[in-house]
Amino acid sequence: MELFKKGKKESGAYTMIIGCGRLGASLANALSDQEASVAVVDKDERAFRKLDASYGGLTLTGDATDITVLRSAEIERADTVVSVTNDDNTNIMVAQIARNVYHIPNVICRLYDPEREIVYREFGIDTICPTVLSTREIDRLLGKAKGEKKA
Ligand code: AMP
Repeated sequence: MELFKKGKKESGAYTMIIGCGRLGASLANALSDQEASVAVVDKDERAFRKLDASYGGLTLTGDATDITVLRSAEIERADTVVSVTNDDNTNIMVAQIARNVYHIPNVICRLYDPEREIVYREFGIDTICPTVLSTREIDRLLGKAKGEKKA
């Protein structure tokens, strides 16, 4: 496990992002640009290549299902934990640890399985499901296309 801190001064609310894939990296870059305090955890060190050269937060290489990794990233002082690995079970586990063990006020997790999304939303964890979001958006675009054809 390796904790690496870049130079930029950090301030304000602390956000932890689990998974430095396309979504995690994009979010980490955006928060860093806003000068927010941010840390991103990924089990694959190469994933951090997606971060901008200007990224000023922390990076931590390690498996997020290992609680010592979460502790190393100081999960206990996070205001927000966003779990966006490509594995629903990992995201659920991290979200539950963040919510139930560390009482983090904002916990968001990505779930690929729409049926699980409904269940975890009921447990007070904010969830995003790419399948549901994409279906809604495609439906909206189809409705728009139909409307334009009628006019
Ligand atoms: P993507 O599919 O582009 O959203 O990327 C998902 C990221 O999650 C990848 O960079 C994976 O290495 C990372 N990942 C998957 N499982 C874990 C885990 N248990 N702990 C930390 N990172 C993970």
